[in-house]
Amino acid sequence: MVSGHYLKIAFVDGLKALRESIPRKIKQALRPKLQAQNESRTLKRKWCNICKGECVDNPKISQENSIACDICNLWFHFGWVGLTGNEQFIKRKNSVWKCQTCLMNTLKDKEMVKEKGRRRKSKI
Ligand SMILES: [Zn+2]
Ligand SMILES: [Zn+2]
Repeated sequence: MVSGHYLKIAFVDGLKALRESIPRKIKQALRPKLQAQNESRTLKRKWCNICKGECVDNPKISQENSIACDICNLWFHFGWVGLTGNEQFIKRKNSVWKCQTCLMNTLKDKEMVKEKGRRRKSKI
């Protein structure tokens, strides 16, 4: 009969051996996959179910399930930009919506302003 303690040690040793036995090549092959996952997470975009991909066609035709960016005036299907269409701000008439690209740009601009301010302060 093998004791529980021995089994535990054997298990830990086995794990260690398994970890060390994973060739570097496989680890490297896994890396781009992980990166792609991270990218899709940061974009927070779902595959557009209406045009089966990126909203390259002008979804204006199906205006009820599309939203226009107030900055670049491009139209996107709700699903593509992570909306359902039931959001309160969509129903509001004078609400402003920015697409991912424009949102990123404005964020960058804000950061630039912040950095400029910081630089100015440090000079004084
Ligand atoms: Zn679409
Ligand atoms: Zn835009």
